[in-house]
Amino acid sequence: MNQGRLLYSGKAKSVYLTDDRNTLIVDFRDDITAFDGGKKDNLKNKGSYNAGVSAFFFDHLEKKGVKTHYLRMLDSHRMAVRKLAMIPLEVIVRNVAAGSIVRNYPFKEGTKLDPPVIVIDYKDDSRHDPMLNDDLIVALKLATPAELAAIKKAALAVNRHLSALLAKEGILLVDFKLEFGREGKTIRLGDEISMDSMRLWDKKTKESLDKDVYRFNKGDVMATYNRVAQRIIRKAEKPGKPSGTGKKTPAGKTRKVSTSRAAKPKAKKAIGLQ
Ligand code: C5P
Repeated sequence: MNQGRLLYSGKAKSVYLTDDRNTLIVDFRDDITAFDGGKKDNLKNKGSYNAGVSAFFFDHLEKKGVKTHYLRMLDSHRMAVRKLAMIPLEVIVRNVAAGSIVRNYPFKEGTKLDPPVIVIDYKDDSRHDPMLNDDLIVALKLATPAELAAIKKAALAVNRHLSALLAKEGILLVDFKLEFGREGKTIRLGDEISMDSMRLWDKKTKESLDKDVYRFNKGDVMATYNRVAQRIIRKAEKPGKPSGTGKKTPAGKTRKVSTSRAAKPKAKKAIGLQ
């Protein structure tokens, strides 16, 4: 499959046509942005961490019966995906109050939200992604009531499966954002599921393990992304190895998951890239 012309370029990913009209290539770039693009940087290998974690999650969700756009990784930062007609909704699932829900409503940060709260925003940067409700979504013809029901059901299934997966690694899935699209009449999960689009807290320390580290200058964002990628994907790297133990080099240092653009085949396999 050959990469064709650029179809779309967002804040951190570029999407290319291919010679197969049903398949696109998503290139996870090393760009990172926050606050509607008000803060921007380019961090080496960042795209590969997000691509690797997204691929791992998509693969896991497909095995659990959630329909996604994921086909396969082409290299450490490029993913082959099914072409979807994207629906301009940002579907946010919250298990714990954090971020905008704390700023906009009288929730105390860290409050458990059970059942989880789904918030759906209109994906439109020029309008700063305003929050929608079901009536607005249908009135704007963004989705039919049946599609909306399917989207919410899929979002809650993603929440269940990823919360369980992450809990095993001592990570709390605080909230995350999903985007969906249509392949014919089928609704599929698109976009990415990565440290850029989730809030993850260490269960014990409540330390941020996601883009909040970048947003609020909480530390070394690339060290955090590498550590999270290791914690999430390590099981795939070392089947049968009990979780909670980092792989040690002879020098006793924890080995980094290789995500360089020229990642070695073994390392690529390790982060679910081949
Ligand atoms: O900022 P807020 O608290 O509303 O974000 C909720 C979740 O959705 C966070 O995990 C955030 O990273 C994600 N999000 C996103 N893209 C947006 C808005 C929110 O990935 N445009």
